[in-house]
Amino acid sequence: NDPLSGEVKPRILLMGLRRSGKSSIQKVVFHKMSPNETLFLESTNKICREDVSSSSFVSFQIWDFPGQIDFFDPTFDYEMIFRGTGALIFVIDSQDDYVEALRRLHLTVTRAYKVNPDINFEIFIHKVDGLSDDHKIEKQRDIHKRANDDLADAGLEQIHLSFYLTSIYDHSIFEAFSKVVQKLIPQLPTLENLLNIFISNSGIEKAFLFDVVSKIYIATDSSPVDMQTYELCCDMIDVVIDISCIYGVTDSGAGLPYDEESMAIIHLNNTTVMYLKEVTKFLAMVCFVRRESFERKGLIDYNFHCFKNAIQEVFDVRVKVQQNRKLLSQR
Ligand code: GDP
Repeated sequence: NDPLSGEVKPRILLMGLRRSGKSSIQKVVFHKMSPNETLFLESTNKICREDVSSSSFVSFQIWDFPGQIDFFDPTFDYEMIFRGTGALIFVIDSQDDYVEALRRLHLTVTRAYKVNPDINFEIFIHKVDGLSDDHKIEKQRDIHKRANDDLADAGLEQIHLSFYLTSIYDHSIFEAFSKVVQKLIPQLPTLENLLNIFISNSGIEKAFLFDVVSKIYIATDSSPVDMQTYELCCDMIDVVIDISCIYGVTDSGAGLPYDEESMAIIHLNNTTVMYLKEVTKFLAMVCFVRRESFERKGLIDYNFHCFKNAIQEVFDVRVKVQQNRKLLSQR
């Protein structure tokens, strides 16, 4: 976080070659655009900065760069940009030749690291929808090896790169974004701990805390996540938010028709119940409960009430800390 700019929001940069899919990712994840509509997007040709904090819990910014940035252009203050960045997402088109992309990646990562060694480097091997499973693994192995070899050759093997296989045509892009964002949430261990306590005292199998706008899950309990469960949660949020948007009551443009009363229950055909409840203006809890445990819904609701209070405290503390920092930096 850059004290100079007086900002305490973690910032995410989205970079990559032209046509690698950056605008599509941003539109699909944060603006609910359907993947097919991205076919008609104009390619990114300017640096655009978007603040997603007004509509979403996760307060971060996306800088969408054109592919060909000239680091030697004196009008481009990359140092200032990298200094305030929490995570740099570099998008590589897996359906294209990636030699040039890897060259750019190397240049960008080494520049960024010099300015700010604390940046998380997140590599999205993107558009993998066109590849078979074997092919995906093979691509990832190859890109991973080449990128790390380049770093080793430059004597920079201490730089850590994380890799994700992504596509806007399935949930993998949301899953990858969730992981990237989670690394930037300082309260994550506290949230996980609260979720663990909540599920073990309520007979719940699994619980996620979701940002309802982006469908990024910002935390879950410590049991493993399987993709199918995650996808079901995304579908459930879509149903609740879509129905609310179409038929719900909004009080004079106050954003989403989503409030304290918002909740949904779906009985699945495998004796599991999905339960969604509002936590804050931006967050929802989605849990999976066995039917027999759901008979004690009173207990679940009571525990949920305690959980919600705790969450509010966690974030109130965060707001206070931010305000204090701001005051200090203004002195
Ligand atoms: P940008 O220049 O990096 O912003 O790239 P765009 O977002 O304009 O995307 C370029 C093209 O890639 C568009 O035609 C998108 O429809 C396509 N695209 C983006 N993401 C994916 C993906 O996950 N899979 C496939 N098959 N195509 C994608």
